[in-house]
Amino acid sequence: MNDCIFCKIINGEIPSATIYEDSEFKIILDRFPANPGHVLILPKTHAENIFELNEATGAKLFALAIKTANLLNEHLAPHGLNVLQNNGAAAGQTVNHFHMHLIPRYTNDDISIKWNTLQLTDADIEDIRSKLI
Ligand code: AMP
Ligand code: ZN
Repeated sequence: MNDCIFCKIINGEIPSATIYEDSEFKIILDRFPANPGHVLILPKTHAENIFELNEATGAKLFALAIKTANLLNEHLAPHGLNVLQNNGAAAGQTVNHFHMHLIPRYTNDDISIKWNTLQLTDADIEDIRSKLI
C-alpha cells in the first residue's frame, strides 16, 4: 500500500492545482506556499529523495525546472527565484517523494534561506576535499 501524498496527487486521488503535466512529471502549486507561485515539480515515478532518483529523470526534471522558472518570470515578474530541494528530515524534507521547489522571491519578502558561515582553516578545507576525491 502506498501512502505517499504526492503519489496520490499524481494519480488524482488528492486534488492539486496543476500547472503542467506530461507522462513523467506533474507540476503543482504548493498548497502552503512561501510566496504566490511557489511550485513543486514532481516526478511521477516514486523516488524518496535525490539518492533514489534516476539520473535521466533528474536531467529531464532540471530542464523542466528551467522552463518553469522562465514561465514564472514571464507571468509573475518576481525579483528573484529560489530553487530548493530537501532530502531527509534533517534537511527539512517533510514529504518523502522527491520534489523540487521553485519559489518566486521579492525584495524584502519575509522568507529567509540562510545559514551561519563556519570559520574554517585551509587545512580544514583540505581535510574535507581529501574525503571527497
Ligand atoms: P519539503 O519540506 O521539501 O518536503 O516540502 C513539502 C512541501 O509540500 C511543502 O512546501 C508543503 O507546503 C507542500 N505540501 C504538503 N501537502 C501538500 C498538498 N496536499 N498539496 C500541495 N503541496 C503540499
Ligand atoms: Zn510518492
